[in-house]
Amino acid sequence: MTGTLVRGAARTRPRLMAVHAHPDDESSKGAATLARYAAEGVEVLVVTCTGGERGSILNPGYPRPRGPVDMSVLRAREMERARRILGVRHSWLGYVDSGLPQGDEPLPATCFARVAPQAATARLVRLIRQFRPDVVTTYDEDGGYPHPDHVMAHRITVAAFTAAGDGAAHPRAGRPWQPLKLYYNHGSHPARSAALHRALRERGSTAPYAPLPNEPVRQPDITTRVPCAEYFPLRDRALRAHTSQVEPHGVWFAVPTPVQQEVWPTEDYTLARSLVRTELPESDLFAGIATAATVGRRGVGPRQIRARRPEGLRVKMPADAARAALRAASSGRSGSGSARSRTSW
Ligand SMILES: [Zn+2]
Repeated sequence: MTGTLVRGAARTRPRLMAVHAHPDDESSKGAATLARYAAEGVEVLVVTCTGGERGSILNPGYPRPRGPVDMSVLRAREMERARRILGVRHSWLGYVDSGLPQGDEPLPATCFARVAPQAATARLVRLIRQFRPDVVTTYDEDGGYPHPDHVMAHRITVAAFTAAGDGAAHPRAGRPWQPLKLYYNHGSHPARSAALHRALRERGSTAPYAPLPNEPVRQPDITTRVPCAEYFPLRDRALRAHTSQVEPHGVWFAVPTPVQQEVWPTEDYTLARSLVRTELPESDLFAGIATAATVGRRGVGPRQIRARRPEGLRVKMPADAARAALRAASSGRSGSGSARSRTSW
């Protein structure tokens, strides 16, 4: 899958950086991709911009604490468990969760979404120059969904992607390093949901189907589908490691894993920026990087790349295994979904 990296004599392993807003986002948006690349020898670093301090305890089965809870400590512990399960490295960017304001409620004064973007970009530039990723992922311009921290994560990652390679930008943040590709991840999207809905109905499920929390209404322009079905169980374990946030049999796990593996065995991305030549659709975030040294460093945006809609990918799965899993789900394991009043997903 991953081509031989040709940049820098000292580099032997490709590197992937995934920038997320809160602890748990890494496990709900692209986690199987991270686990797959890590297992295949790619160095993977998750950057979490905030500590998730303003997240509530969303798992109704979580033991009720007797006193005040320091959410940043709790969520750091959960993040560490998820990190180990995925087999990745992790850094905090060091900002405070903005929460999800309701209506006209103002954002807290010192939260991530209100910091000067230039300052937050500088911190991320420093991490990029230290880790030296070839590929960076984050959310699209809507933040995947309109949480102010997700939108801010998008904003600073796009800025840092360019600034990290510019010696004149943030000169005290380390030696310049230019990542080669920038992607927007899509945890789920309408096309995937529709396919899973159809599959459940075809298999006779009567369990109610619900899209994943905060799924975008608009179908994103997917350029890259990374096959990672065999890592879905690891993804689910990592997500469940965020015990305070996730019901272990809730909406995230409503569609049986074998059905997901058969019907939609990929995690999906939009190539937002590429400094290497690549042909769309892709099935590898590192596509084209093996030849980076020969194609120069001129930026190529997705509009300059001839895009073709990816065909559906399928994983062979015994039909009776899928049906058995489906029966188990229909008989009560599918869960009802969490209350999400102030979620930090
Ligand atoms: Zn989040």
